[in-house]
Amino acid sequence: MSDPGSPPPPDPASSSGARVLSAMSASSLDVARHASFVKRSASDRDTIEYVLTEHLRMSGVYWGLTAMDLMGRLDEMDDLDDIIAWVLRCEHPEGGFGASEGHDRHVLYTLSAVQILALCDEMSRLRRDETANFIASLQLPDGSFQGDEWGEVDTRFTYCALSCLKLIDRLDAVDVPAAARFVAGCKNFDGGFGCVPGGESHAGQIFTCVGALKLAGALETTVDADLLGWWLCERQVKAGGLNGRPEKLPDVCYSWWVLSSLSLCDRLAWIDQDALARFILRCQDPQKGGIADRPDDEPDVYHTFFGLAGLSLMGFPGLKKIDPAYALPVETIRRLGLYSDEPDEPSSSE
Ligand SMILES: [Zn+2]
Repeated sequence: MSDPGSPPPPDPASSSGARVLSAMSASSLDVARHASFVKRSASDRDTIEYVLTEHLRMSGVYWGLTAMDLMGRLDEMDDLDDIIAWVLRCEHPEGGFGASEGHDRHVLYTLSAVQILALCDEMSRLRRDETANFIASLQLPDGSFQGDEWGEVDTRFTYCALSCLKLIDRLDAVDVPAAARFVAGCKNFDGGFGCVPGGESHAGQIFTCVGALKLAGALETTVDADLLGWWLCERQVKAGGLNGRPEKLPDVCYSWWVLSSLSLCDRLAWIDQDALARFILRCQDPQKGGIADRPDDEPDVYHTFFGLAGLSLMGFPGLKKIDPAYALPVETIRRLGLYSDEPDEPSSSE
């Protein structure tokens, strides 16, 4: 392994990844099949998958709807009104949302619910004060956040709390500098982040920490972008896909966790985007539609969304642009008035 203190200069082949991608045919992504896969997973309530995923259904709905919107097909969801009514039925009387009707409220599903309402332009139906109060009640004196009233602390919850509060314009409900200090305390010698201080660096956790720091306005002062960029671009394996930690197999969902972090650190050009896009395309199911974690595995809505999100970050033709900090389409973030800094547009990078 090379010295991590000397990150690779952007190599001309990978820095022009965006150009290679735009030359890649939009038809290599089977949008029509993926859209019917997502629609089927939303409507097919007799399957075992539907029963087994009740504990995270709110997030499943967010992944599915956002995938549809990235493909420009959200209007094909003819039961959107029913979905919004269901989301609102999952709201706790004192604010916050559960994964499904009658479930305990949790910051993970509260963020998913708010993301769904933002995506569908239904924010006026959200009880913002109650939502903000619930999230504020989860912050501990050291700045960290619990996921719910029962106590587990994790930097994932800091990201969910800050993202949710930004989306509803209530960031002042919590102590943002303390939240950023806690995340900074989870930084490791390799430039990455763990779930608590001393926790091992992991790409999923790095996204939540980098995203939280971005939302807190503390990214530049906390992250060593070269050191972290180096760790992140080493996640790319020979097959083109990305893994979450050294020695692990590549998995399509890391296309999002790694790429969004690289994008927020302005180091997207450090990986071979062409090879990654080809890996994601190989994970499409040619019969059923949908995208799997690896080629020839079963597709699911989670990997379908994160595969599309990764392609979107790389400027794949035919997909709407996704925002790397909010994991929502850029046009949604613009509509909310939250779009301050323009990300690198592939066409303007040269
Ligand atoms: Zn995965």
